Amino acid sequence: LASRDFHPADTVISIKGVEIGGEQLVVMGGPCAVETPEQIDEIARLVKAAGGQVLRGGAFKPRTGPYSFQGVGVEGLIMMAEAGKKHGLLTITEVMTPEYVDVCAQYADILQVGTRNMQNFDLLRKLGTIQTPVLLKRGFSSTYDEFLNAAEYILAGGNPNVMLCERGIRTFETYTRNTLDLSAIPVLKQLSHLPVISDPSHGTGRRELVVPMTKASVAAGADGLIIEMHTDPDNSMTGDGVQSLFPDQFAHLLNDLEKLAPLL
Ligand code: PEP
Ligand code: MN
Repeated sequence: LASRDFHPADTVISIKGVEIGGEQLVVMGGPCAVETPEQIDEIARLVKAAGGQVLRGGAFKPRTGPYSFQGVGVEGLIMMAEAGKKHGLLTITEVMTPEYVDVCAQYADILQVGTRNMQNFDLLRKLGTIQTPVLLKRGFSSTYDEFLNAAEYILAGGNPNVMLCERGIRTFETYTRNTLDLSAIPVLKQLSHLPVISDPSHGTGRRELVVPMTKASVAAGADGLIIEMHTDPDNSMTGDGVQSLFPDQFAHLLNDLEKLAPLL
């Protein structure tokens, strides 16, 4: 079902007037984690002002260590839904377990499956039983075939609203947090009809690389971007402050994209 052989035309996912996979480049921006109502409200305002369409933020965080901040949970979903509504943005948040799919879908417009859960088949099966759009991140050690098979689980369950996200893979390079596999963008567009989103934040792990890799992703044919931005990155509650853009950088970048996208 994920294959272009089966479905030659591009899939366009339409959510409250925003089309993902169509003509328009979609930008999802926001913090790694929802922290406080004030934080998410202010960031939502800045995402909207810069021209973004979707507010990102994790209420449930998949952390490497069990003692790290794990997210504020359901309260974070509520804070983000309010900020999104107030500022006219769609929202996307990560869901980690099948049990939380329904509550996350109640509050968010798009559900994110994180890299560590790409092959959490129970979670994928559960997401196949609803119609809420899903952004499926590529596992950091997964092949394209494994990635498309993971998408297939959701599609086979009856949910056609799946987008694929390249967020960097693990290589021998340690300078960057991950290696953003730019080739994945045209390859996935060729093999599949699903929208392809790039995550240059987790793909590089370094703020100064997010701007060039965003532009490269657009040049490679990405349908959208998911970018971390924070008003106070140095004090963000996850370690992802180092890869989060400052609000003015985010605004400049979106301004540049408006000029770049029509040329491609
Ligand atoms: C995130 O988007 O903050 C995140 C945890 O992403 P990933 O699953 O790609 O690491
Ligand atoms: Mn993050």
